Amino acid sequence: MRKYVILGVQGSGKGTQSALLAGDLDLVHISVGDIFRWHVKHHTKLGAQVRRLVAAGELVGDDLVEDVVRERLQQHDWNYGFVIDGFPRNRRQAEFFLESYDIDGVIHLDLPDEEVRRRVLARRLCSRCGMDYNLIAHRPETEGRCDVCGGELVSREDDSPEALARRLQEYHSKIDPVVELFRRKEYVMTIDARADKATVQRTIRTRFNLPPYLPSQEEPVRLSG
Ligand SMILES: [Zn+2]
Repeated sequence: MRKYVILGVQGSGKGTQSALLAGDLDLVHISVGDIFRWHVKHHTKLGAQVRRLVAAGELVGDDLVEDVVRERLQQHDWNYGFVIDGFPRNRRQAEFFLESYDIDGVIHLDLPDEEVRRRVLARRLCSRCGMDYNLIAHRPETEGRCDVCGGELVSREDDSPEALARRLQEYHSKIDPVVELFRRKEYVMTIDARADKATVQRTIRTRFNLPPYLPSQEEPVRLSG
């Protein structure tokens, strides 16, 4: 049984690295953000609650997040373990997590703010079909136009430099103390996330004594985060 928490700022490749790790080690990738999005999309009671909070400009409270995580882990479909992504989001949740579950390690993807800005500000989205682009890694054939439908490429509203600066500040104020708490328990492996995704994955495997990463022909689905 292998149980990991993955922490990292937006753009650090958290979703991609979790998926690569989960894929061939038979771990369940638990993305708390995806669970909330699923509830909102499927109009569940929880989804309605989340929608109300977001509409009122409030954050989803710790209790609600903890309930969701507890319920998800109680499903026990993780025979070989899990990688949890998007939790804990603050020190209090980290304490709850440490009291409730024993974990094998914390994967801390470290990316300097400057590199986060470079990656996030390069993201584009087709205004017509919603296809994702990235001016660093996935450039369109014709500048500013979608390869698939020819639609205009735009930035997401929350990818503005100002919004990103706010998110980075929020991330450091909430997540730095979480890393610190886990570090004191000697769970944390800090991984340099500036390298390409295969190198980052190989480093994670080495640091946690896991079977080596053998990239398959198949490209994993591109995930955000
Ligand atoms: Zn398009």
